[in-house]
Amino acid sequence: MPSLKFTVLAGDYIGPEVMAEALRVLGHVAARENLRLDYTEADVGGAAIDRHGTALPEATLRACAAGDAILFGSVGGPKWEKLPPKEQPERAALLPLRKHFTLFANIRPGLLYPELSDASPLKSERIPQGIDIVCIRELTGGIYFGQPKTTTTLPDGDVQALDTMVYRKSEIERITAAAVTAARGRKKKLCSVDKANVLETSLLWRKTVADYVAQHAPDIALSHMYVDNAAMQLARDPNQFDVFVTENMFGDILSDEMAVICGSLGMLASASLGAQQNSRGLPFGLYEPAGGTAPDIAGKGIANPCAQILSAALMLRYSFGLDAVAARIEAAVKKAVTAGTRTGDIAFGRPAVGTRAMADAIIAAL
Ligand code: NAD
Repeated sequence: MPSLKFTVLAGDYIGPEVMAEALRVLGHVAARENLRLDYTEADVGGAAIDRHGTALPEATLRACAAGDAILFGSVGGPKWEKLPPKEQPERAALLPLRKHFTLFANIRPGLLYPELSDASPLKSERIPQGIDIVCIRELTGGIYFGQPKTTTTLPDGDVQALDTMVYRKSEIERITAAAVTAARGRKKKLCSVDKANVLETSLLWRKTVADYVAQHAPDIALSHMYVDNAAMQLARDPNQFDVFVTENMFGDILSDEMAVICGSLGMLASASLGAQQNSRGLPFGLYEPAGGTAPDIAGKGIANPCAQILSAALMLRYSFGLDAVAARIEAAVKKAVTAGTRTGDIAFGRPAVGTRAMADAIIAAL
């Protein structure tokens, strides 16, 4: 029986609540597909600070390295907000995890079912068929990591801060390869977003993406767009995109804009894929909901588990090569939600169900 070896890092507040349901869905799928779930649970974030004094204990890193993927919940919350910024759960756990495993490709599906179009701040006549696009963000390069990064007092007494935006051709090539793979699984349409009218890094970005696609992916219809225009086009007509790929800071901003126009954070999953291959020769990856720990609703059993369940589906697709099984989970989530089973964040006046009942409906739809 094929075994799926991964590490579960549930984290804080609603993290463990939605993770329990994702594991239940995975358990159901595994039984049906004759797969064995072989996962280890480890502490991360605030929970790890409370138990081990650090947000990312060595034992957790070791557990992650021993698996083929990480299924992540979310970390942080008011309980740890008074800690120095460097020790806060998100900064001290998630960023080092991304760095440690060189998780350079962040894949965020922007999905809004037509039946949920009320959740979007966009007018529903602009998105009659809902929203179905994918953002691919470069995650380990660019201005967030470039050196030097300094603040200095100048001889004239003024203060100057400096960040460095830097990209290598090889970094752009590998994120383009990830974007091409995503585009091939969809409409074979890729838009590369940059600021090539102003930035040197964007000039290299545009040329590298164009050269890569011409050489390795002539089947992909490639277009280019400046980031300021992309921000506007996302709000005007999101479905003109299918897959878009962009550098770290632009992707940070555009992916959040995309999340907002897609309505509830409780529905949005994400995958961060690494440079290293797992024991199956597929990308090692970290899979997590787009939202945070939602302390305002934690402990009430009302959090939407869909994003965590859809993150588990992405894990099956990218790190285990089980595309058909992933698609079955995605279809079951869609079926359950569009048939009317909804948690409070997507209920819009209908009676809302709790976290467990939402997962029950998804399992029934499977
Ligand atoms: P949040 O995403 O946790 O919550 C924003 C709003 O969305 C809240 O009203 C919340 O109830 C709602 N929401 C989010 N997920 C939901 C779900 N599954 N079901 C129903 N409603 C949901 O953002 P925040 O309030 O800004 O952050 C709370 C904490 O989470 C902070 O400590 C922040 O640092 C942390 N955080 C962690 C991650 C991560 O671990 N990747 C990401 C973002 C925020």
